[in-house]
Amino acid sequence: MDALPLIPVARPTLGEEEAAAARRVILSGWVVQGPEVAAFEEEFAARVGAPAAAACSSGTAALHLALLALGVGPGDEVITVSHSFIATANAVRYVGATPVFVDVELHTGNLNPELLSAALSPRTRAILAVHQLGMPCDLPRILAFAREHGLPVIEDAACALGSEVAVDGGGFQPVGRPHGLLATFSFHPRKVITTGDGGMVTGPPELIGRIRRLRTHAMSLSTAERHRAAGVVFEEYPEVGWNYRLTDIQAAVGREQLKRLPEMLAARRRLAARYLEALKGHPWLLLPREPAYGRSNWQSFWIILAPECPLSQRQVMEGLKARGVDSRRGVMCAHREGAYRDLPLRFPLPVSEYLQDRAIILPLFPEMTEAEQARVLEALKEVLAG
Ligand SMILES: *Cc1c(COP(=O)(O)O)cnc(C)c1O
Repeated sequence: MDALPLIPVARPTLGEEEAAAARRVILSGWVVQGPEVAAFEEEFAARVGAPAAAACSSGTAALHLALLALGVGPGDEVITVSHSFIATANAVRYVGATPVFVDVELHTGNLNPELLSAALSPRTRAILAVHQLGMPCDLPRILAFAREHGLPVIEDAACALGSEVAVDGGGFQPVGRPHGLLATFSFHPRKVITTGDGGMVTGPPELIGRIRRLRTHAMSLSTAERHRAAGVVFEEYPEVGWNYRLTDIQAAVGREQLKRLPEMLAARRRLAARYLEALKGHPWLLLPREPAYGRSNWQSFWIILAPECPLSQRQVMEGLKARGVDSRRGVMCAHREGAYRDLPLRFPLPVSEYLQDRAIILPLFPEMTEAEQARVLEALKEVLAG
């Protein structure tokens, strides 16, 4: 029916620069974690204004390392959301702790800070707050609550590189600065910059140093340090660690991606503003809303079918696909998956479930053209008109 190619939901921006960077590292003869990873960490920390950063193999590994570095373990509870990619909750279980799920706010899809005090228990060890799809969560209130109760906050910023938050009456500052204690990022191709797979943790130097050891079997000396040493040195393994390293090939690609970041963010914000303008006031749609305390990087743009909309999520998505437009359902809920069947829910999660069932992610990527966006809007209006 439609000769035009399917418009994808997301597409990474990769080009000659990334290819040349990978080639340069391959031909250098040093491909494992080394100088490129160190440079990528430094440039990433500078970009978000963090004192230090540690690269690792994925956003999931970043979450796991952050929880390990804070000493979260068996018997502990971590307050977080079910409404997230399953990696968020899984990382809590990797360390043997229990995720305590609280519901989210409708227009941001993020942890509702009103619900924190009911979730608090003597076992609470940390709050793991997600900036879902790049939309900042209510850090001002989450941090105030955490401070009052002496709890560390980890930010799952997998999607939120370039998003900004204002806390303590200050101006907007990039997510990943010390707002919470640690922030974690992902470089999966669906996120804002990509290294294939990859991740980063930002935070204070002592914790980042510990994370650097844990990511490589808790080895007392890095491979590069051993390589550089003048004499013969033997490494030690004082505790159990992991192999969560990023490679130098990936880091070199990541450094090129970081250079593109300002331009990619500008394109994302321009596209999101156009969607919001074109769709505002539609009686069947609820739209995401940037809160007063934050600016999104628009890693994704989503619509929410209002209760009045007689069409199901699937009907709308099928209608879009028939018109050459791909889409994705709203963010999943971990508590509805088999992997979480054994975890009793403490609270009902009606907004999380509503968003999973009624939100739809529309195409948005930096290289999307105005003509492509017009096609998406046209298709959506046709589908909603029945
Ligand atoms: C993608 C994502 C992760 C996991 O990142 P990977 O790099 O795929 O391991 C974790 N949390 C959230 C919110 C994500 O979107």
